Amino acid sequence: MIPRTAVLGLPRIGRNRELKTALEAYWAGRIDAGQLQSTARQVRAEAWQAAAAHVDVVPVGDFSLYDHVLDTAWALGAIPGRFGEPDGDDLDAYFALARGSVGVRPLELTKWLDTNYHYLVPELHEQQRFQARAGHWLGQLDEARALGIEARPVLLGPLSFLLLGKRHHRPLQLLDTAVEAYTSLLGTLEQAGVAEVQLDEPLLALDRTAAELDAFAEAFRALAAVGPALSLTTYFAGLHRDGALERLLALEPVELHLDLVRAPEQLDPALAAIGQTTRLSLGLVDGRNVWRTNPDAALALIDRATAALGSGRVTIGSSCSLLHVPWSAARESGIDPQLRGWLAFADEKLAELRLLALAADAPASDRGPLLKEARAEVEERERSPRTHDPAVRDRLAALSPDTSRRALPYPERAALQRARLALPELPTTTIGSFPQTAEIRRARAEHRAGRLDDCGYQRFLEECIAEVVSAQERIGLDVLVHGEPERNDMVEYFAEQLDGFAITAHGWVQSYGSRCVKPPILYGDVARPAAMTVRWWRHAQSLTKRPMKGMLTGPVTILQWSFVRDDQPREQTCAQIALAIQDEIADLERAGAAVIQVDEAALREGLPLQQADRDRYLTWAIDCFRLTTAHARPETQVHTHMCYSEFADMVEHVVRLDADVLSIEASRSGMDILEAFDGRPYPNEIGPGVYDIHSPRVPEVEEIEQLLTAAEARIDRGRLWVNPDCGLKTRGWQEVVPALEHLVEAARRRRAVAGPS
Ligand code: GLN
Ligand code: ZN
Repeated sequence: MIPRTAVLGLPRIGRNRELKTALEAYWAGRIDAGQLQSTARQVRAEAWQAAAAHVDVVPVGDFSLYDHVLDTAWALGAIPGRFGEPDGDDLDAYFALARGSVGVRPLELTKWLDTNYHYLVPELHEQQRFQARAGHWLGQLDEARALGIEARPVLLGPLSFLLLGKRHHRPLQLLDTAVEAYTSLLGTLEQAGVAEVQLDEPLLALDRTAAELDAFAEAFRALAAVGPALSLTTYFAGLHRDGALERLLALEPVELHLDLVRAPEQLDPALAAIGQTTRLSLGLVDGRNVWRTNPDAALALIDRATAALGSGRVTIGSSCSLLHVPWSAARESGIDPQLRGWLAFADEKLAELRLLALAADAPASDRGPLLKEARAEVEERERSPRTHDPAVRDRLAALSPDTSRRALPYPERAALQRARLALPELPTTTIGSFPQTAEIRRARAEHRAGRLDDCGYQRFLEECIAEVVSAQERIGLDVLVHGEPERNDMVEYFAEQLDGFAITAHGWVQSYGSRCVKPPILYGDVARPAAMTVRWWRHAQSLTKRPMKGMLTGPVTILQWSFVRDDQPREQTCAQIALAIQDEIADLERAGAAVIQVDEAALREGLPLQQADRDRYLTWAIDCFRLTTAHARPETQVHTHMCYSEFADMVEHVVRLDADVLSIEASRSGMDILEAFDGRPYPNEIGPGVYDIHSPRVPEVEEIEQLLTAAEARIDRGRLWVNPDCGLKTRGWQEVVPALEHLVEAARRRRAVAGPS
């Protein structure tokens, strides 16, 4: 018997980002709700049909006009009072929750577990009431049925929904009330003829306490009694660490889904603990990455499961929703065919599910012909010189522990840097980018389309840089930047120039709402054939006597925002990137740079979901940063930047970065975040942001002065820098100029006041 196949969710932005286009047109008033809905319907239909061509279980209800967590909140009537009491089909009210409306702030946006997708954070309160509106699922179910597809509704489960809500001191106290609403939703689905529901509970895999698992058990029993069979679905981490696996299996769910890409070690304990009736859904096709599945590795697990349970109790699935990968690798004609053959995006993954199921059912002798192509591609990738560059490997192997330490300790470096740079107290600077104007985007598009030649484009960028430099001189900043007009994206810019990366043309994945990102694909050993930033830096420095910062993206951030090869540990790949950036630092120094910033915007984002893995990650991630900057000369001032404000749980690690200057986000918290450094003062220099660049608002001089005063209460003035929270690329010049003028003026006023002694 061929095991059944399931895909847990599908990309929803459209093969050509049709949904993005339609959403933005709708928000701009260029199309009406009917036109938006018709595009959405088409996008869904295409996705379902692509899935149904290969797999048995097709998801429905995972599609969203904005975000699936928002859809859940909406369906449960968990709508904060400031939005009124909208009807279930009030589209503008729905978007108001996501994007705000006049005078009404939207829900907060935050990262969906450890992905680069962002969800809207439900706001729940103590006396929260829920209702149940099943329209979202019923509508999509009918549409799928009209196409002849009997799809399986996907519901984000109550435990995860509550835990994903905005910090609420006891979220699970709402579990009973939430379960009532879920019971009613499931009842409605049952009446609509639904036999099985995929109940997503990814948060079960995140260090749950025994009390939480008890509460969940009770909730689950109530939901399972309603009618539709529940496929209890976990992903992104394993359940095997704290007994969660055994406890969930003891509930005898109709099916339990395990992410065996992230945690294959769950399979054996699951087979040992599983009862007589539960089926196991094996998440074997990676929904988080773009590589072709190794069929033999997957079949080894499938065979173990079918031997224990019989193929009737085994489902072969994607590890998670395919939301996190692009649609079609076959379409990437710009990537050379050899590399393309190693890739599997959503289309290819759907076909892989089918192939694995057929192979699972085939006698050993028939597997060879079935798997011939897949095996050949996987083997080729393993042996290819494109993934193994001996020079890179030798260099990495030759590293010794003190190759990740700067030649002198910070105090000695600081003295040399002070003498070299001669900066005032409370030096002012920015984080790197200046406004990416429509003009810049247009020139980039023209250049890409071949209508603007290299020379013309270069001249244009040099003019942009000249404007940015003279604006900063007029404003009176102390350490200048070139403004990054040549960068479409802080990772893609470097990936385009490094060996070991491929750039897709259509590989878009949803980041949030209509926002998409196109991560580079890191397939092979990383090396830097030539300097990447020096000519822009040199041009910028030639225009001013003030120090010009070199501006680089750090290895952890490049890793974090790419699709990364899965054939070696991530830390090894990261160290290769570190060496490439190390070389760029050396080139910038040779060109004369005295200040170099290495951005690590995504360092915190890489934190593993389970506590037990975090220290190990932080250790190698910070080692990689240290390796990047280790050979910077003592008199070169190394800056780093991180755009977030949660440091409390990683202060030790941040200190270990040993950057000469660290800039962080702080303005929205009114410097409260500096508390994190109370017990363990940051020993080097630090620039807590004093200008919130997420809003078009221009801060007044006095506000900035107050923030600086608050910062000085915690950090001695001799270590303090004055800068915005993050880069300015999303802002307009009309805000940036006055805001930076205010920032410079506030620094001047503080300098005039004697510091606390
Ligand atoms: N240097 C980058 C910029 O200013 C940093 C961006 C970031 O931290 N996300 O745009
Ligand atoms: Zn930032």
